[in-house]
Amino acid sequence: MIHLRGRKVLVVGLARTGLATLKFLKEKGSLLSASEIRSKEEMREVWEELRSWEIEIEWGRHSIEHFLRQDLIVLSPGVDPGIEPIQKALKKGIPVISEIELAYHFLEAPLIAITGTNGKTTTTLLTGEMLKEEGKRVGIGGNVGEPLILFADGKERWEVLVVEISSFQLERIERFRPRCSVLLNITEDHLDRYPNFKAYIQAKLRIFENQTIEDWAVLNRDDPLVMGSLDKISGKKLFFTLGKAIEEGAFSNGEEIVLRMNSLEERYSLREVPLKGVHNIENMMAAILAARLFGCSPRTIQKALERFQGLEHRLEFVREVGGIRFYNDSKGTNVGSVVKSLQSFSEPVILIAGGKDKKTDLSPLKDLIQKRVKRLILIGEARERMAQELGSFTETLKAESLEEAVSLAYQTSRPGEVVLLSPACSSFDMFKDYRERGNIFKELVRRL
Ligand code: ADP
Repeated sequence: MIHLRGRKVLVVGLARTGLATLKFLKEKGSLLSASEIRSKEEMREVWEELRSWEIEIEWGRHSIEHFLRQDLIVLSPGVDPGIEPIQKALKKGIPVISEIELAYHFLEAPLIAITGTNGKTTTTLLTGEMLKEEGKRVGIGGNVGEPLILFADGKERWEVLVVEISSFQLERIERFRPRCSVLLNITEDHLDRYPNFKAYIQAKLRIFENQTIEDWAVLNRDDPLVMGSLDKISGKKLFFTLGKAIEEGAFSNGEEIVLRMNSLEERYSLREVPLKGVHNIENMMAAILAARLFGCSPRTIQKALERFQGLEHRLEFVREVGGIRFYNDSKGTNVGSVVKSLQSFSEPVILIAGGKDKKTDLSPLKDLIQKRVKRLILIGEARERMAQELGSFTETLKAESLEEAVSLAYQTSRPGEVVLLSPACSSFDMFKDYRERGNIFKELVRRL
């Protein structure tokens, strides 16, 4: 077990996870300090909470000198391990681990860990719901909801933990070993933070690094990058696919999901299932496979599928106005997710996209835009590049604000069409986050 008492431990990032990590380490008797890139004023609540702690906290910066004084450094999920103070600390031989690695050393329950470029939150919550519905004592968290470290205090006896894991978190693991690792897909994202796409892929694949033949890997058979990495996976492989039937694993024709495992065949109807979109069938297949491995019955799974309403800002139906249907997919922050969202409609789509440019390759959108997008309305910092690269594939307009975009979309569309906000970009050029962008969009649509 990792030694913590009396050791100088620095926690980097003081949002929910960092705060929970500090509390955990305090219980363990570490000599604590913290570093947060945002200012005291921005983090007022945390500051007030920690004021009485009498520990050294660096606000508004991460200084090399502070990092180099430590025996151990623990990173919150949003912290980029590539930043200079961390790289310097690593060079000096100071161990740097992510919060999930720290938590892992103290967890007793087996883990279902879910990663991928898109679909992590949906699949994590859905898998968790299935197991909960079965009556299991299941903890759900990681990158969504409760940080993993909160499950490591030994107070509750969890039967299983379902956790969403990001690539940043995986970059600084050592022993982290899920009993079941799920890799949903890999498409380009975060090229503004990774040196290249290969580095991002490698980070994602680390979810399998410590697995052995005793463990399970749930994999997307339709994803060429996942399939090209099978030699790096030692766990027992279970595939899901939207393509042809397979002997072992899950497949779907869009109307039902068929699961084949250990010469058994089970069928799950999608007729009464509220989750829409082809990508959600993939998420459901992955969730079903993971839940079945952990003793969830087919009946419970069917029930959970029919109850699960999907999440806000992910292909969320907002309203129909004069026969035009409006969808909020503000969480569609990369090209891969917009591809799936567009594939989910057969109606002509008026697509509102753009935002902060992540500099990723836009070409996977070209064909779909030509076939399904009647009009493209671009906003934000990325709009010039998007107009240049995509503008020749459909009628393209630029708008100054989301408000103008919604109004343009409404005025130029006809009954039977769909207006979709699915930006393929993050929101930080114009909004606080994707939630604010989605909420403003919904408000604008409600006012029409
Ligand atoms: P994540 O937690 O990985 O960001 P979410 O479940 O929050 O994933 O969904 C993020 C975005 O990706 C949404 O726009 C959603 O419609 C889309 N999406 C969800 N699942 C998938 C998938 N399996 N493949 C591609 N896109 C997806």
